[in-house]
Amino acid sequence: MKLEAVPALRRALLRWYHAQARDLPWRHTSDPYAILVSELMLQQTQVKTVIPYYEKFLKAFPTARALAKAPEDKVLAAWAGLGYYRRARFLHAAAKAVVARGAFPRDLEGLRGLPGVGAYTAAAVASIAFGLPAAVVDGNVVRVMSRLLALDQDAGRGAGAAAVREAAQALLDPGDPGAFNQAVMELGATLCSPAKPRCPACPLQGHCAAFRAGEPEAYPVLPARAPSRRVLKAVALVVQGRGARAQVLMKPRQASGRLQGFWALPEAALASEDEAMAEQKALREARRLAGKGVALAGRLPKLRHSITVHAIQLWPFWFSVKAAAPRAGWRWVGLAQAGKLPVAAAERKLLATLGKALRKSGDEAGEWGLKL
Ligand code: SF4
Repeated sequence: MKLEAVPALRRALLRWYHAQARDLPWRHTSDPYAILVSELMLQQTQVKTVIPYYEKFLKAFPTARALAKAPEDKVLAAWAGLGYYRRARFLHAAAKAVVARGAFPRDLEGLRGLPGVGAYTAAAVASIAFGLPAAVVDGNVVRVMSRLLALDQDAGRGAGAAAVREAAQALLDPGDPGAFNQAVMELGATLCSPAKPRCPACPLQGHCAAFRAGEPEAYPVLPARAPSRRVLKAVALVVQGRGARAQVLMKPRQASGRLQGFWALPEAALASEDEAMAEQKALREARRLAGKGVALAGRLPKLRHSITVHAIQLWPFWFSVKAAAPRAGWRWVGLAQAGKLPVAAAERKLLATLGKALRKSGDEAGEWGLKL
């Protein structure tokens, strides 16, 4: 792209952005804390999913100081359902770091020093909150830049990734870097989509080498994705008691990692898709944790979900038991209380399914499932 074309490109993109951009709640603020919350929530999560969580989270924790003071289980509960819980822990730690240093860092280096803040997030906060000329590079930006340049290299690494970064920085409007960064991402999210980009409506059509070549979808050039790894598990939903006194067997996870602090249901790994074997393994695990009196009450619908490269299949079984003392570390949790604990999205769905099964069986304890 010729240097003399850059000012026209900037003008066209910003004009389009100010006229067409979606009205999103984090676009009404220049508070670095609120922008950091939105950026962490938006990582690997769709905008429409994030909006209600963003609003609820800021209502519960309106400032970095309020978040820093909150106990972790409250923070995780406000995040529950959004997934990738490391982000919530990072945000919590970042708020504590801001309070410890006395103010929000106002430069790239200081922002990069906050827990969970990488190059992309630092540039987003720096440009949007403080007007610093730092270009963001996320998946949308990679796609737009690759197409503008018709970049014939792997845009995800090495020289290709460097070319994308350089282009994003060279095109960035120094007069309004925050709006320009958001405009490129907005273009990638709305018009310049991975499949079937809407080039006729695009303000950058006249500057786009991939459009001129007639094959915008050929860019970005990316390596083939690694095949997903399948994970199969049997899950035991063990219920003690009926009605208002019904309780389900759960435990807080001790292990470090993504789900640390979240509550788990009993589960057993499966080597193959063998339903009889799955039931046996779930029953064995349920009896190991809640005693020999555990009996099968029903099979629940299977659940599929994906985390990073793992394609996970959960085969849930509903068991019942009369009064039983659980094995150390496990607890009987009242059904109403289970919905208020930090629980990952998959377990949340399983508990809701159990609630439905209880209601169907005529046990009003299942009503709690509606509140999850
Ligand atoms: Fe993307 Fe098409 Fe616009 Fe090029 S012209 S930036 S391919 S939408």
